[in-house]
Amino acid sequence: MTQGVTDDILALIVANRKDDGKHIDLIPRFKLMFGASNLTNAIDELETAVSGLNRLIHTVTRSRQPVESEPSRQTKRLAKAFRHLSSLASSLHTALGNGWSKSCHPSHNAQLFLDDRLDVLQSSKSGRHKARPAFRLVLATEAPGKESLDRLETEVHMHLDEQDLDIGRLEASSSTRVRVSFTSSHCDSDPLPTGIDDLCMALTAAQSANSANQYVAFVVSASKGRTQIATIPAPQKCLIACHQQFISLKELLSDDLTKRRIPLRSRMLLSVRLASNLLQLLNTPWLPATFSKEKIFFPATPVPKQNTPLVDFSRPFIHSEFKEDDPTAVFSQNYASPPKETLLELGILLLEIWHEQTLEERFSLDKSPVEFFDRLPLALKWAEESHTELLESYENAVCYCTGFMTGESRGSQWKDDKLWASVYGEVIEPLARNCKLWR
Ligand SMILES: [Zn+2]
Repeated sequence: MTQGVTDDILALIVANRKDDGKHIDLIPRFKLMFGASNLTNAIDELETAVSGLNRLIHTVTRSRQPVESEPSRQTKRLAKAFRHLSSLASSLHTALGNGWSKSCHPSHNAQLFLDDRLDVLQSSKSGRHKARPAFRLVLATEAPGKESLDRLETEVHMHLDEQDLDIGRLEASSSTRVRVSFTSSHCDSDPLPTGIDDLCMALTAAQSANSANQYVAFVVSASKGRTQIATIPAPQKCLIACHQQFISLKELLSDDLTKRRIPLRSRMLLSVRLASNLLQLLNTPWLPATFSKEKIFFPATPVPKQNTPLVDFSRPFIHSEFKEDDPTAVFSQNYASPPKETLLELGILLLEIWHEQTLEERFSLDKSPVEFFDRLPLALKWAEESHTELLESYENAVCYCTGFMTGESRGSQWKDDKLWASVYGEVIEPLARNCKLWR
């Protein structure tokens, strides 16, 4: 044993007893002996733990939205406009369901293009939108004995009054002074819509029209409390036969990246379209749960002599199938998942789009976890790791979505207008800001 150094605690006590009793002097008797490699390892471990903690604090701090602070009037107006659009989207689904109630084809389905509509929404300062809202759709029917679908693309304008809308369960919990209205159906110059009972028959007639007095456009109107597809005279043919194939976002993300990449511009514009449509389609039959990579598609045109088709990233869409025994006209089901689940899935999707990689691939999972509390830690870990890579406003949106459970809005429900305003302000607006460069 070295003189003056001991690791024997009893010897230390005895040595100090012999002292004069005024001060216990342990210092000369202790000497910490560390090997250099032990010390380096310990420092490394400490650094990893501290930086992990820092990332977690960062994620949590970014997600702690000041829900109590009053959103601006403009933000409230936009949140209200999104709520209005989701009612219109729901009414469109109801009208299509009513028009496709016959068993003329084995299947009927609609592809709804995901427009962000931010220009239309933001252009209004008074809260009154001059343009009548319209949805771009591909209406598809499966002909008996044919493998492919007959598909027609058209734009459907909404000729509905406030009282005709499928308001359903997403009606705001409290009335606010902010009012939003879109052009109502009572414009004197408008032709009166003619209601149709059989959508397939009307589509066939419109497609075969060959003179100006036969051309029609499709609208949604309400008659005697029934929301229906109707036609109005049009200056030209409003249906385009559509022969494109399509590809899912999941296929694109799972694709070998050495073969194809989605340009950054397309990924950023896609992120804002998806975030905006989350609110536009929330609690409607179009979006039974929430967005996922399996449910988002893009038109894809095959290229001769090439394995990969040409993908139109600017036109993402979702599918909805209409079955005869599925009374979608009745708005009785609560389609929306709780906010924490809906937003977590949006956060995961945003990470997948940024990294061009699926969650399963990132964590080498054979099977995707289903439960919320199995997915949450993966999303948080991925968001933490991406901290230095993401553009600041993109990261803001990701942190809000993945950290929603730890944020101040965590107890909010979709019926709460403040939550809509918060999602607009913390997710859609930052993503849109990101895209200004490319618009
Ligand atoms: Zn049919």
